[in-house]
Amino acid sequence: MATVIDGKAIAAKIRGELTASVSELKIKGITPGLAVVLVGEDPASKVYVSMKEKACADVGIFSDEHKLSVETSEAELLDLIAKLNADPKIHGILVQLPLPKQINTEKVLEAISPNKDVDGFHPYNVGRLMVGKPTFQPCTPYGVMIMMKEIGLDLTGKNVVVVGRSNIVGKPVAMMCLQQHATVTICHSRTKNLAEVVGAADVVIAAVGVPEMIKGEWIKEGAVVIDVGVNRVGEKKLVGDVEYAAAFERASAITPVPGGVGPMTITMLLYNTVESAKKQ
Ligand code: NDP
Repeated sequence: MATVIDGKAIAAKIRGELTASVSELKIKGITPGLAVVLVGEDPASKVYVSMKEKACADVGIFSDEHKLSVETSEAELLDLIAKLNADPKIHGILVQLPLPKQINTEKVLEAISPNKDVDGFHPYNVGRLMVGKPTFQPCTPYGVMIMMKEIGLDLTGKNVVVVGRSNIVGKPVAMMCLQQHATVTICHSRTKNLAEVVGAADVVIAAVGVPEMIKGEWIKEGAVVIDVGVNRVGEKKLVGDVEYAAAFERASAITPVPGGVGPMTITMLLYNTVESAKKQ
């Protein structure tokens, strides 16, 4: 039977610390500011953006919302980013993905000043992470690392298996674990014998996007399981990428879905914004 790693509680603790940091910054005349740019009407993106705005308000961060029409051109968006880059009230810029198809996402992410790239997606910040000198670290993987630290997990020499190789979760979390001296294996859709590879892991990090595809019986007794996946099944139910009930019986610690990694992502966005304000 596993210990449940309570992402909500860890996130609440960090948000409390951030609220105190923001108050201290305000005494010095600095209000951390996060610009959130949403292009179009994607329903999931709208929900994420409103959650981010509320989270900013809760800790005292100024949130500067830019809701643009789905027809916005790439040039218009780049123009807005240039203004935000130059605006001293803004310490972080977040462009909600996905963007409409007339806009080149890469070009937009590269236009954000690396000094305000609180999502950690700019190639400069990706490169810094790769060479082991991270600046802004992407929020979801960063949240995963904080959760493992919170439970006192020392990754030195551990076999970490990351399932998923996306630029926003799989690859960066693998890099971060490597930095913490783990032996890291990255799996993906072409990996052979996934069950066997997962079965050798001391720590499994799942970021696949397929409901419960990692079976509980694959998990080594006593392994730590971090489930990044958020999959909607049916009308209202959310499940992770790991078969939770069965994995719970074998793991020593496991993150639930919801209430695990999810609350950490926005928290680390707030954290990066406050850090950015401290630097300026
Ligand atoms: P992507 O779709 O970008 O990447 C999924 C990865 O999983 C790919 O590398 C893919 O391999 C791999 N994969 C797909 N099918 C299999 C399979 N059968 N066996 C092994 N590997 C497979 O997803 P993201 O990284 O963006 O997100 C992953 C999950 O995490 C999603 O559920 C998403 O909703 C969730 N998420 C949650 C966040 C949070 O805040 N909690 C934040 C971000 C994501 P290949 O590269 O070969 O195609």
